[in-house]
Amino acid sequence: MFDDLLEANRRYATSAPRNFDGYAHAGVAVVTCMDSRLQPLEMLGLMLGEAKILRTPGGHVTQDALNGCVLAVNLLRVNRILVIAHTKCAMASGDDEVIRQRVAEASGLDVSELAVGANADQEGQLRRGVQMLLDHPLIAGRAQVGGFVYDVDSGLLSQVV
Ligand SMILES: [Zn+2]
Repeated sequence: MFDDLLEANRRYATSAPRNFDGYAHAGVAVVTCMDSRLQPLEMLGLMLGEAKILRTPGGHVTQDALNGCVLAVNLLRVNRILVIAHTKCAMASGDDEVIRQRVAEASGLDVSELAVGANADQEGQLRRGVQMLLDHPLIAGRAQVGGFVYDVDSGLLSQVV
């Protein structure tokens, strides 16, 4: 079932980058969406080894993403955090009820317990995520934090907060 990917991995391993340490050498962490149209390193002109990337549905600053940022800032030399939402994001296309309906239709199952935190107010969500990071006692004063929207059609980032 995974044979194609393992085969690809064997090819990759012949020239895989090695001998990196785990620090973010550009001092950057990015919290962004799992969307397959986004290339977080490339969109910022960064290379392997330069940034920590935390991906969540919608690029929401979840508890896990927050934990990752705390580790990144305090242990991994991160001093700038970008929270990046994007246009045409499914997580901003409606609330959880909308998402539940879609998953229910796709799966044919009862998904009434499913809660993913979808929110049509993308900018409000982004601002709250940035504020959570700014307010965190283990991040405040240690890293700059910005909120951005990536346009999947133009490839451009615009800063919101
Ligand atoms: Zn998305």
